[in-house]
This record gives sequence, C-alpha cells and structure tokens, in this order.
Amino acid sequence: MQVLRKTLAAAVVLLILSTLLGLLPGPMTAQAWWDDGHKIIASRAIDFLPEGWRQFFSKYEWVINETTLYPDTIYKSLYADEDPRHFMDLEVWKPSDPSTGTLHLAVEEFTTKMADAIRAGDWNSALLYAGRVAHYVADIHQPYHSTVYYNPKGLHSVLDSSLGKHIGEMTLIQPGEVGPVQPIANLTEFIFDVAWQSNSFLPIINRTLIDEGKSWSPELTTIIQNRTNAAFIDVARVWVTAIARAGMSPPALPGDNSLTIGVTGGVPAGGLLDPSKDAYVYLFVNDKLGVGFIGTVSAQLETNPLVVSPLGQDPAPMGKYVIYVPKTALTGRSGQNVTLTVSAEGQGYAKQTLSLGLAVMGAPPATIAPADDSYLVILVVVLAAVVGGGTIAVGRRRKARARDGKANQLSLFLRKDTVWSSRKPVLLMKSMALKFLVSTSAMTSLAPLSFSLRSSSL
Ligand SMILES: [Zn+2]
Repeated sequence: MQVLRKTLAAAVVLLILSTLLGLLPGPMTAQAWWDDGHKIIASRAIDFLPEGWRQFFSKYEWVINETTLYPDTIYKSLYADEDPRHFMDLEVWKPSDPSTGTLHLAVEEFTTKMADAIRAGDWNSALLYAGRVAHYVADIHQPYHSTVYYNPKGLHSVLDSSLGKHIGEMTLIQPGEVGPVQPIANLTEFIFDVAWQSNSFLPIINRTLIDEGKSWSPELTTIIQNRTNAAFIDVARVWVTAIARAGMSPPALPGDNSLTIGVTGGVPAGGLLDPSKDAYVYLFVNDKLGVGFIGTVSAQLETNPLVVSPLGQDPAPMGKYVIYVPKTALTGRSGQNVTLTVSAEGQGYAKQTLSLGLAVMGAPPATIAPADDSYLVILVVVLAAVVGGGTIAVGRRRKARARDGKANQLSLFLRKDTVWSSRKPVLLMKSMALKFLVSTSAMTSLAPLSFSLRSSSL
C-alpha cells in the first residue's frame, strides 16, 4: 500500500511536471503531428532546397525547429482565428464558413509574408514565416486534419504521435531520389490536392483502428511514411515558392559568429531602480544577420544570479528575453551603483556579455564620512569677575581649523585670553578656554561623542 501510494505520488508529480514542460499534449487538443513530428518535417525539408538556400536554412535549422512549433504553442492562445488554420474539413468545407478550415489561406498568407521578408532582407522574419508556413503544410499531411471526422473514437492523437513513434521503421526519401523541387503556381489548388490525398487514406486507417480494433499495423506505417515523405518535399516546395516570388539570392552567411545584446525596455529613466518594487529588464539577443538567438541567456546583479525567461506569448519571440529583478535583490543597496551583467552563449556563437551600470534609489546607509582633516574646536569661555571694577567681560568665541595637521589627537588645555575692561589698572581678569581637538578620523570611532559635542556646543 505504501509502495503504491509512493508510486502514485511520483506519477502525479511527473504528470504535473510533464504538463508544465509541455511534454504531454492533451489528446483532444487536435494539434497535428506532435512537436517531434513538426521538427522532423521542417529539418528534413531543408535537405531538398537548392544550393545556397540549403546552406542558409541549415545554419538556422535550430530557429526553424522552434518557429515551426509556434502555431500550436503560441498562436492558438494568441489568435482567435488560429485554430481553423490547422485543418480542412473537406466533406463539409465551405469558403463562406471559416470554421470548416482556412489552412489554404494560411499557406497563401505566410508564403507571401515569407517572400516579403526575404525581399526586405529581414532574415529573422523570413525564418519565422518559413517555420510557420511549414507547420500548416505539415498539418495537412496528417489524414485526420483533412476531415470533419477528425477524432473518431478519440483516435486523433494516435496519428499525431505516429510520425515520431514510427520514424525508425520508415524508409525516408533522400534528396538524390528526386529532381530539384519546383515552386507551386497555385498554392490553394495545391493544398486541396494534398488534403484529398491525405483524406484518401482514412478508410484504411479507420478500418484498421476502429473496425479491426488494432492499435497499429505495418500498413499504417506505410501510410504515415507516404505522408511524411510527401511533407518533406511539399514544405520545401512552398519555401521555394516564397524564394522564387522574392526573386532574391540567399544572404552571405556572416563569418563573424558574435552576438549583440541590447536592452529594449524595463530599465527606468536614468537607470534608477526603485528598491520598493520588482523590476523587469527586456532584452534582445541577435546575431550579425539580425536573427534572434534562441539559447542560454543568464544574468546577475553584482554576484546574485537572476531569473531570465524567453518572452513567451509573443508573435515573434526569437531573441527576446526578460530579466526579473526582485526587490529583494536590491535590499541594502539603496543609494548605491550596481552592475547588471547579461551573458548569452550557445548555437555555435561566441559568448557575449553586456554590463549595465544602474543605480538604486534612496539614501545611502548612515555613516559619518570623513570629509577632510578638519578639527572640531570648542571654546568654552569662562566669565571672570573683575576685581574692583564690576565689569564683566566676555572672551572671544571662535571656531578654528587646525593648521598643524595632527590627526587622531585628542587634547585638552587651558589658554589665556585677552579681555578688555573699562578700568585697565585693575585688570585682573582671566578667561579660560577648553579646547577639544578631535580629528575627523577619530570622530568616526567616537561618533556619539562628537555628535553630542557638536550639537550642544556649537
Ligand atoms: Zn497544427
């Protein structure tokens, strides 16, 4: 019982962790090809590109492997009209009803945007749209994304996971086996053709999984192999269409593998941090072609490590990060200058570091700063009686600065002072002065004493 309880607890923890990490997509989310399937298709499609472009896309395979997931991981929660971009309900499809599928429109739209970005030399956006359009093209190769009956008996996820699961049993098409991939003249027609091909496999799939009650079969592996190989070439063809429309050559790959880190926001005016509030510093990390870096970014305030997160729900989050500076990291630093250090490394780039000089608002902690080597001088003037004359004279009172430079000296002595009287013959007066000479460095250790002397005597 104890063991069972422990196992159950571990399973629950694992489930929560997996869900948090996005490792367990729910079976009803209807996202075609799980993440691994989308990455396999996008990566393999690169191999079918023409010389030059193939090298460019290969260098940024790690970007496309991220951007091709965004339609599922980001855009479904960001855009209300995202969901129908992932399927075509062929049996009931109506151009007037977007809920029956807008995948063909998505392929048109993001192929155009990819072409525009290439023409503008905006390589970051080109890779974003390349990954995005590849996602929709890959989705329409999943047979359950070409039908209104997309989840019979809850089997949708069986096909979603099948690409990643059975890839080892498939014979994958190689670039040498096909000629150069050709651009597509009419993308909408093309997507409908692919959708009907996918749809044509549904009778066998449903017969095997539902009528025969099998969990899988070699025939189904052959079908998924067919869809996977077609997806490699079709994604490459859609990319080549964008490239042809742009009419451009691929960019020269930078020989310089350095990164640039910059701040885009969050730092308050004047670089002043408020120690009563948490702060967020927004960053970009780009390479020489302006492509956002997806890798390890770390930050620290002085020597304290801070949490750095990739910007999550953003339409183009590559290379965007946010540093969380909790107010507790500023405790005891009021009135001080602090250094925020940011580092980025990975993906073959040279490690890059940025240091930001910031200041924390507020007064510095109370200390008596030794300003200069001045002395506190106190004259205590003693009134003296005048014999015979009745005159009372007051001695001079003055502040003085030490001229001898003797530090750390505490001395007490009496001195004569000149006192004027109206009756000089009977001048018998004396005044006494008490004089403290306290160096400022001695004052630091005698702070309470010097404070009381100063306030009461001067
Ligand atoms: Zn999808």
